[in-house]
Amino acid sequence: MSTQTPFLPVENPTLPFWLTDRSALDEHRSTPDLPDESDIVIIGGGYAGVSLAYHLLTSPSYGKTRPSITILEARTICSGATGRNGGHLRPDIYGLIPLNIQRHGLEGATELAEFELSHVKAIKDVIEKEQIDCDLIMTRNMNVYLDEDRGNRVRKVIEDLKARGCQFLDDISFLPERNIESTSGVKGAKVAFSYTSGTIWPYKFILGLLSKVLEYGCDKVNIQTNTPVDSVTNYEPDSHLVHTPRGTIKAKKVVYTTNAYTFGLLPEYERAIYPARGLAVHIDVPEGQTPPHLSYSYALRPHPQEGVDYFVVRPDGSIIVGGAHQTHKHPDPENNEQWFRNIDDSTLIESTKNYFDGYMQKYFRGWENSGAYVKEIWTGIMGYSFDSAPHVGEIPSRPGQYICAGFTGHGMPVIYLSSKGVADIILEGKKFEEVHVPRGFKATAERLEAAANDTLGGDIFRKF
Ligand SMILES: Cc1cc2nc3c(=O)[nH]c(=O)nc-3n(C[C@H](O)[C@H](O)[C@H](O)COP(=O)(O)OP(=O)(O)OC[C@H]3O[C@@H](n4cnc5c(N)ncnc54)[C@H](O)[C@@H]3O)c2cc1C
Repeated sequence: MSTQTPFLPVENPTLPFWLTDRSALDEHRSTPDLPDESDIVIIGGGYAGVSLAYHLLTSPSYGKTRPSITILEARTICSGATGRNGGHLRPDIYGLIPLNIQRHGLEGATELAEFELSHVKAIKDVIEKEQIDCDLIMTRNMNVYLDEDRGNRVRKVIEDLKARGCQFLDDISFLPERNIESTSGVKGAKVAFSYTSGTIWPYKFILGLLSKVLEYGCDKVNIQTNTPVDSVTNYEPDSHLVHTPRGTIKAKKVVYTTNAYTFGLLPEYERAIYPARGLAVHIDVPEGQTPPHLSYSYALRPHPQEGVDYFVVRPDGSIIVGGAHQTHKHPDPENNEQWFRNIDDSTLIESTKNYFDGYMQKYFRGWENSGAYVKEIWTGIMGYSFDSAPHVGEIPSRPGQYICAGFTGHGMPVIYLSSKGVADIILEGKKFEEVHVPRGFKATAERLEAAANDTLGGDIFRKF
């Protein structure tokens, strides 16, 4: 019988392509035993946890107090969503913008789009500064619609936003109708437009940042992998006890970078951040053959109403693609156990696992006789926020405890600077409003209450 704790990452997860070339650092333990105390304990060693540690250490304010930092990771570094995603650094500059205008006004929505766009440069800059070898490619993200009505609806949204003065859309360029198929490379493409994005090897990016964390933090940083946190209790104000099967750490400040798994340690987030299972694959051609060239990354919408396949081209021409939500993201409670509140990344999604067989041959020009096949297939657990926005900052009613989680399957152009905001709040005692994070991300009691009272389950059940 399994002794698995119901809210912790499962054992023996599926193997993503990204983890087929591993660094010894991902099982790192700085010391054989846990430290007895640490000024800051970060729970979770994915993109959010490691980039938070990096920002703490590289902040000009760090030197004033030099707090000690411990990262506790249940499995290995980057074994969660970050090591299993699609590798797409693609800002969302139109999908959720209308909803954000409704909720936060034009200024709030513009702030969000610009925040996401600024990640492309921020990540490029840190990769160059720290000389991290992680296959960053600056590219154009080609958004392709096979259904004309669906494509035209989106074109209208973009035109309307432009008419309202959204300058962040200026980079979008629509393909002229006469050569949509030949330029996009997608068979049957009806509407297509592109804008600047990046593709990246997420695991190598985070492991590269981690090596810098260890270098800059030498005597102040302690990394402990394979160390799940069971619970956090209060000891006295500004002092917490972080409990693990390997012992307890006394911490002044605790940060939850646990994304999908947050509900296990913070029950008040149970309805605010849901685990949602997704699937991705690596498509390659048989050995000795060269994949037909593709010049873009893609967000491909093959179906009339719903779903998007997000798609990056590796430097060797092979493909990483995920999505296919329409094959499993059923909203009705009788039929949603394959993805909703499912934290099992050790198995595949039954209704999706064959979706990508023959995918390139079906949708891309010149791939018909390529022999392209699914080489690796895996699942990963996303943390869907009920209102689609992450929760960032000090946790309501828990002084000295912070959160940076709930990235709703879209963390690459959001997390790096969100975690910088948390670092500034912790080190400089700044208010949320004083750091550069979109207003809709603020961790508030109102958002938790709205989630608790939402009978539908939030945006997750409204948009496909
Ligand atoms: C299939 C898939 C495809 C995706 N594709 C893209 C994409 O192309 N572009 C994009 O922008 N986003 C994508 N995402 C989303 C993106 O991967 C996430 O938003 C991002 O990785 C979240 O990073 P994180 O650090 O918050 O979470 P994670 O990487 O999940 O890290 C959380 C860590 O916390 C650890 N943990 C949890 N509970 C505990 C505990 N109690 N004690 C100790 N440790 C704990 C976990 O083991 C995990 O390592 C995708 C996600 C999936 C699953």
